[in-house]
Amino acid sequence: MIHWFRRDLRLTDNPALQEAATAGRVLPLFILDTRHGELMRTGAASRWWLHHSLLALDRSLDGRLRVVAGDPLVLLPALIRQAGARAVYWNRCYEPWQIARDRQLKATLKEVDIEAHSFNASLLWEPWEVHKDNGEPYRVFTPYYRRGCLGRPAPQRPRPAPDALPSKPPEDGEVCGPEAIRALGLLPDHPWHKQLETHWSIGEAGARQRLDDFLANGLDDYREGRNFPARPNTSRLSAALHFGELSPRQVWHAASEEALTRGLEKELDSFQSELGWREFSYYQLYHNPDLPAANLQAKFDQFPWLDRPEARRAWQQGRTGIPLVDAGMRELWQTGYLHNRVRMVVASFLTKNLMQHWQHGERWFRDTLVDADLASNCAGWQWVAGCGLDAAPYFRIFNPVTQSRRFDPQGDYIRRYVPELAALPDRHLHAPWEAPASVLEECDIRLGQDYPEPMVDLKQSRVAALDAFKSISG
Ligand code: FAD
Repeated sequence: MIHWFRRDLRLTDNPALQEAATAGRVLPLFILDTRHGELMRTGAASRWWLHHSLLALDRSLDGRLRVVAGDPLVLLPALIRQAGARAVYWNRCYEPWQIARDRQLKATLKEVDIEAHSFNASLLWEPWEVHKDNGEPYRVFTPYYRRGCLGRPAPQRPRPAPDALPSKPPEDGEVCGPEAIRALGLLPDHPWHKQLETHWSIGEAGARQRLDDFLANGLDDYREGRNFPARPNTSRLSAALHFGELSPRQVWHAASEEALTRGLEKELDSFQSELGWREFSYYQLYHNPDLPAANLQAKFDQFPWLDRPEARRAWQQGRTGIPLVDAGMRELWQTGYLHNRVRMVVASFLTKNLMQHWQHGERWFRDTLVDADLASNCAGWQWVAGCGLDAAPYFRIFNPVTQSRRFDPQGDYIRRYVPELAALPDRHLHAPWEAPASVLEECDIRLGQDYPEPMVDLKQSRVAALDAFKSISG
C-alpha cells in the first residue's frame, strides 16, 4: 500500500494511514507537486515550516518517508508499479487545484486497476454535507455554524496512531529521509527564516505540546483574552492545523474534555466557534472556487482602489507611523505569526486607510505567515475588505488607535515590537503624534527620525474610504 501524505503530516488521527496499515505494508510517501504549482502557491514562511514538518514526520517514521518532487499524475502510477502496490490511500485536500488533480488521478488510477481510497482528516464537517433546508449552501456564518454544523452529528472522536506501521524499507540507492527532504529546496535562500526558528517547535509532537499548553494556560480566559495580542490566550495552532500536524477533531475533543472537567463551557463555545470559522473558510472556498481571485460581492469590482507601491512597502516593513499597525507587521516578519485582532487591524488599514486592493495584503500574508492557508487567508481578507460573503460592512473601519488603547492598554505588545517608542508613557504610546513636544523630548524621540510620522491622517483617510465606498453603493 502507498500512503500519500499531503496536509496530514502526522501519525495520530490519520484515517487514511490507519486504513493503509490495516491493509498491509505501507510505503509512506510525500510528493511536492511542482506540476500543479504547489511550490509557487506556498510562500517562503510556509516552505520553511513544511521543510521542518517533513523532517519531524520522517523521524517518526524511522527515516522511511519517501520524498519526491514532480507531477503526481505521472509519479504516483510509476511509484505504485515500482512498489508492487495495489492501492493508494490519502486524506482529502480542499483547494480547487487539489480537488481537480485528485479527481483526475482517481480516474487515471482506475484505468490501470489501482484502488484509490480517500478520507476526511482535515475538517470537522465535509463542505458538501452542510446546507440549508432547501439544499443551498449557507452564506452567513452564524446559521452555518450553529444550525448547519452543530445540528449535525458531533465530529468523530480522533483515532489513535496505528499500533505498528509495517512499512516497506527503502530499496538500495533509494533516496529518502533528510537528504531527500533537503533536495526539495524548500528553505529560502535568504537567511530570514533563521529568526523564525526560536519561535516554533514544528511537527506532530510540538503541535501536541502547544495544544496541551493552551489547554492548561490559555483556555481559562479565552473568550476575553483572545482579543489581547500580548496575552497568552490563543492557541497558535493554525500552522499545525494547516499542515495537518494535528487534526481539528483532536483539538475539538481535547478542548471539550478539558473544558467540561473544569467548568469552562463558555470559553469552550468561543474557542470551538473559531474552529468553526476555519471550517467556514473551507466551506466558502469549496462553494466559491474563485474566492482567491474574485470579490464575492461583485460590486467591489468597481471599487476605486489606489495603487501606491511605496505605501504598501511601508506597511509591509512596519513603518506606517501607527504603532499598533507597525507592531503587527513586525510581529509577522519576526515570527511568521500575527495575532487575529491585529490581522484585522492591519488588513483594515491597508484596504481602507490606504485603499490598496486586498489581494496585495493576501499575497504578503501568503509569503510571510507560517499558517498561510488559501481558504482562511482569502476569506479573512475578503471579510475585512468588506467584499466577502458574510463580511464586516465596509463602513466599519477599524481605528487602530482605539483598538490599541482597548486591547493593548499597557502597551506591552507595542513595546515588544516597536522598542523605539518604549519610553513613552502608556497614554501617548498609541498615538505618539499627539504627544506634547516636551514628552517626546523627555523620551528622546524625534518623530520622523526615530519613528515615522503617521503616513496618513486616520480621520481623513477614513472619510476618503467611505466616499469611495459610496461611489460603488449606488
Ligand atoms: P486561536 O484563537 O487559538 O483559534 C484556534 C484555531 O481556529 C486557529 O488555529 C485557526 O485554525 C482557527 N481560527 C481562528 N480564527 C479564525 C478565523 N478568523 N478564520 C479562520 N480560522 C480561524 N488563519 C489561518 O489559519 N491562515 C491564514 O492564512 C489566515 N489569514 C488571515 C488573514 C486575515 C486578514 C484575517 C483577518 C484572518 C486570517 N486567519 C488566517 C484567521 C486567524 O487570524 C488565524 O487563524 C488565527 O489568528 C490563528 O491563531 P491561533 O491559532 O492562535 O488562533
